[in-house]
Amino acid sequence: MKLQSTRDTTGRPYSYTDVLLQGLAPDGGLFAPQEYPHISLETLTRFKGMSYGEIAYEVKKLFVGESIPDSDLRTLVSRAYAIEQFPVPDGNIVPVTQIRKNFFAQNLSLGPTAAFKDMALQLLGHEMEYELARRAESLVILGATSGDTGSAAEASLKGREHITLFMLSPEVGMSAFQKAQMGSLTGGNIFNISIRGRFDDCQDLVKAVKHDAEFAHLGAVNSINWGRISAQVPYYVSGYVQIAREIGDPVDVVVPSGNFGNILAAYIAKRMGVPLRRLIVATNENNVLDTLFKTGVYERITAQVTSSPSMDISKASNYERLVFDVFGHDPQKTAQYMHEFDTTGRVSFESYGLSGTVLSTYGFASGSSTHADRINTIKSTYDTCGLIIDPHTADGVAVGERLFDVHEDVPMICMMTALPVKFEDTIREALGFVPERPERFRDLAQQQGGFDTLDADVEALKAYIRAHV
Ligand SMILES: *Cc1c(COP(=O)(O)O)cnc(C)c1O
Repeated sequence: MKLQSTRDTTGRPYSYTDVLLQGLAPDGGLFAPQEYPHISLETLTRFKGMSYGEIAYEVKKLFVGESIPDSDLRTLVSRAYAIEQFPVPDGNIVPVTQIRKNFFAQNLSLGPTAAFKDMALQLLGHEMEYELARRAESLVILGATSGDTGSAAEASLKGREHITLFMLSPEVGMSAFQKAQMGSLTGGNIFNISIRGRFDDCQDLVKAVKHDAEFAHLGAVNSINWGRISAQVPYYVSGYVQIAREIGDPVDVVVPSGNFGNILAAYIAKRMGVPLRRLIVATNENNVLDTLFKTGVYERITAQVTSSPSMDISKASNYERLVFDVFGHDPQKTAQYMHEFDTTGRVSFESYGLSGTVLSTYGFASGSSTHADRINTIKSTYDTCGLIIDPHTADGVAVGERLFDVHEDVPMICMMTALPVKFEDTIREALGFVPERPERFRDLAQQQGGFDTLDADVEALKAYIRAHV
């Protein structure tokens, strides 16, 4: 399987390992598959009863092809999903819980930092280190986080010989737990930099620094990295085989969304042949994506800080990969569309000769929720089945329940994107108590510090990086 940049008219093909160590393509596009591999219903039937690690290996192999030998890939995947890293009683590291009749939640947040991002980043860390060692190279990575990416990337990359990670986070907006978690991972090859500003300022700084030729080679760990997206596809394969009554029956998925990375993986699984029917995009008050899927208009907003902060985005970085498909892999049209968005902050399908609801033909539906919806949903879910869900998952459950049709017999599955322990204040507001902290997170609160603080200033950041590599 080969990839190409969504904006490259020459269609130059890249292998999996070519793109693994890169963020954006050199022309500013994203790496996207030239065609999707296929998973048959017989294969899905064979997956029933397999462990998550085994499914992840089988699916990932379709994307990696020959660029990593099968036996090495198997070792990398089994290290990433080693049962010792996941506190589960029965070996299922992505278990499904029933919330009510035909409505399920899949827990993707049992990894080291209690967010679904661990599942993909754990594997990415092993793959990157493997590839760098094979090439005898080293990589400096600069990233920005509003909370969960930072700690998940750091937990995966900590102590890796060939990688140095600089992670920017906003001074205000992260939960106390997220701050303590990141701070505790500082040291060695991990640098945490607190920026006097907001998440958007952090992202702008990353862009501005990489614009400088001296820093153009810096790597990325955010969800535009294709290694991360492809490592998310197994979530949906595993979720599907766990809840489909008969392999081949349709299942709806609902995904709490921000940068459009997680639900893009659901879309890819559907394109590969997994019988997912509706792909429901759930947003919070920052509803860029809800507007897009309802109207075909993609319009940048000023993101506000909400109680589901990992979904507070002003634009959705991964969306370009879907645009590339919608335009039939036409790089010129894709580039033109994205350029219009980048320069004017707004673009619509109608001005490209497509219907405003074209995205629904790919299975997409959407909805948004508010702080009050999250609070009510956390409470009602707890009252119905005793499950405490985090505020992001609550966005998903709230939107999913709104679109759920009790007269149809199609199950729906919501992705649980974080554990509630990360967002204690919101849980206290909803339930009047905080969830018990899992053993492995008990002494986090005592850990303070671990951050260097900088102004949102490009030159200051460049000087900091120079001084530390
Ligand atoms: C990152 C994150 C999201 C959003 O995922 P995207 O892939 O950016 O759409 C949702 N919930 C939580 C808890 C997250 O950490």
